[in-house]
Amino acid sequence: MNNLITLNNGVTIPSVGFGVFQSAPAETAAAVETALKAGYRHIDTAAGYGNEREVGDGIRRSGIDPAEVVIETKVWVSDYGFDETLHAFDKSATKLGVSRIDVLILHQPMPQHFARTVQAYHALERLLEDGQVGAIGVSNFMPHHLAALREQTQIVPAINQVELHPYFTQTAVQKADAELGIVTQAWSPIGGITFYPGWGENRKSVMDDETIAGIAAGHGKTPAQVMLRWHLQQGRSVIPKSTNPERIAQNIDLFDFELTTAELTAIDRLDRGVRGGPDPDEVDPSTWNVEIPEAETPTSTTKGS
Ligand code: NAP
Repeated sequence: MNNLITLNNGVTIPSVGFGVFQSAPAETAAAVETALKAGYRHIDTAAGYGNEREVGDGIRRSGIDPAEVVIETKVWVSDYGFDETLHAFDKSATKLGVSRIDVLILHQPMPQHFARTVQAYHALERLLEDGQVGAIGVSNFMPHHLAALREQTQIVPAINQVELHPYFTQTAVQKADAELGIVTQAWSPIGGITFYPGWGENRKSVMDDETIAGIAAGHGKTPAQVMLRWHLQQGRSVIPKSTNPERIAQNIDLFDFELTTAELTAIDRLDRGVRGGPDPDEVDPSTWNVEIPEAETPTSTTKGS
């Protein structure tokens, strides 16, 4: 089971989605199939992850009606610009095997080329108006990026997907999102960025945090479940990633316990104010030079046709 979150345009998405960043293409279809069979109905991918085609394969392999599954994907910065972003939609839709994308968001602000970021968002607005996407949004937008975007665009983003876990709670972003009616969607919701293998030395994994371990023991739950429950009780959307069937099931088994106000506050107090991911003010195609390949061969359409 899964609760629903209503976005600012009335579209609903499950509060617990399934992430596939760093899921190797060879593993992604199986992970998506496992997730859908475990009850997830929302998959978060990105053009930049190189696995949109396998996400579509996993949905088809699950046997679950694709119309029941919310697909969220992201436009990479190298595809920003009005026409370029319209083409990015075509590439992603073809790889996913759909004619309509439920949620399409900009992966990063591109502060050094903000005019192109705005043009990309204008393309999202056009796609929304044309009914080719169900909701639009952004990712890694800080309050000053949101303010600049709002001055130059019509439609308020439905979602802002940002790094958010007990060691980095981004209260200013959450406040700015709430004031604008934007759902805050937590990436690395169980702190994956604090323990990704090979992503830097001397990090403390939030998964090993003593406070979280104590709360988890008290509820007979795991640290991951406690962190996910903390997000849900504070109104955030979450998209935990796993390729392990047991952990995939565990990360959606969140609806038979409740954290107390004191427990929520204890987790809030763990914030260190230090981001694990890239600084959103530094992202630029010259430093993040990933070209998104053309879709080449279309796969069969799974929905919206
Ligand atoms: P995460 O979901 O917080 O953590 C994933 C890590 O935790 C993986 O190493 C996974 O390993 C492990 N794990 C999963 N469930 C577990 C459990 N129950 N107990 C212990 N370990 C567990 O981190 P994330 O992948 O960074 O974030 C989730 C999603 O957010 C991504 O997949 C992607 O969709 C999105 N994201 C977006 C951005 C952005 O810039 N917009 C950036 C990063 C991520 P196993 O697979 O081995 O279980």
